[in-house]
Amino acid sequence: MRHIPLAIPNMSDAEATNLQKCITDNFVSSVGPFVTELETRIAALSGVKDGVAMGAGTQALHMALHALGIGRGDLVILPSFTFIASANAIAHSGAQPWLFDIEIDSWTLDPAQVAEALRSETTRDSDGTLRHTISGKRVAAIMPVYTLGTPADMDALGVLAKQYKLPIVADAAAAIGVTYKGVPIGRVANLTCYSFNGNKTITCGGGGMVVGDGEPAMRDIRHISTTARVSPNYDHDRVGYNYRMTNVQAAIGCAQTDRLEGFLATKQAIRERYDAAFSGLNSVTRFPSPHDRTSTYWFSGFVLGSRSKSLAAKICKQLNSKGIEARTFWKPVHLQVPYADAPTASQTVTDALWQRIVTLPCSTNLTEADQARVIKAVHETLIELDA
Ligand SMILES: *Cc1c(COP(=O)(O)O)cnc(C)c1O
Repeated sequence: MRHIPLAIPNMSDAEATNLQKCITDNFVSSVGPFVTELETRIAALSGVKDGVAMGAGTQALHMALHALGIGRGDLVILPSFTFIASANAIAHSGAQPWLFDIEIDSWTLDPAQVAEALRSETTRDSDGTLRHTISGKRVAAIMPVYTLGTPADMDALGVLAKQYKLPIVADAAAAIGVTYKGVPIGRVANLTCYSFNGNKTITCGGGGMVVGDGEPAMRDIRHISTTARVSPNYDHDRVGYNYRMTNVQAAIGCAQTDRLEGFLATKQAIRERYDAAFSGLNSVTRFPSPHDRTSTYWFSGFVLGSRSKSLAAKICKQLNSKGIEARTFWKPVHLQVPYADAPTASQTVTDALWQRIVTLPCSTNLTEADQARVIKAVHETLIELDA
């Protein structure tokens, strides 16, 4: 019985051709035409002017925060329900996450809870600095996470950002190519960060990118992520980072970008087939998909009813024994050892949700026959476990 993986890369001759070109032309390092091409194309499809390609999405987030002057003594507003990399990027910058809950119908940052906390738990210094009253730390930015490739409520967060003069750095790691109310997502945040990790919709093997319009931030991001080099004479004006993407990675990324539209259509079809197949079950519900924004449908699967806590893990184990890679989803940041001390708002939705999610195979190269096998196995497993 063949193993069906959860989310793997989808390579073709186009990626191989581009890679061969890197070898033939001897452009394998961080200088090369594919890097510039990928930056131009990803910026354009995000609706903004500029992009800086990095070695990872985490690095993109780190550089975005750094360029906005966020560092030691600062707090960054973040939903606890995210991949730990969002919090790690904040920690790498020297700051600390301030953890909030999510909305149940999008699994993204709850603007109402953030609004209430900003109103009742912050004060302003005479110079205008916004402070978290209890910790005395400066509240420096909002980092919404576009969970499953679906944007957060950017209208509501935009109002807060304006009112409190906070920049928005979006963790759009898995949200390449989506829109919010018809607007490409690069325009609804100050800086937007993508990941090209192997399990994302398009991959460079590994990689990331910051996109945005704002000068001097974008120029700064390019500078500090390229060792803050000011001349070829080993002259550097700041503590820099060696974070840039290589031409080899970008070669894969350019070929993947050509195929993005097809990948997005496939991801949506996979989601729709799972939703249709499980719609008759009253023990499970579907992943959210708000109507006013598009999504990459990065992962698909189902949510178990509220009474079933360790059941998701049991279902995954059973499916894995049938040759189907199924996994539970993110363990929230407030429950992770390195972030135990982070200021944390109540996590009613997150705490009730995270152990009830099962993610299922959803690679863009998943065949309909394989998906039918997954669906059959899920139905059998739910019966076997009396779920
Ligand atoms: C994948 C991911 C990241 C990290 O990207 P890397 O390229 O793995 O560093 C960050 N945030 C979220 C929400 C992700 O899904």
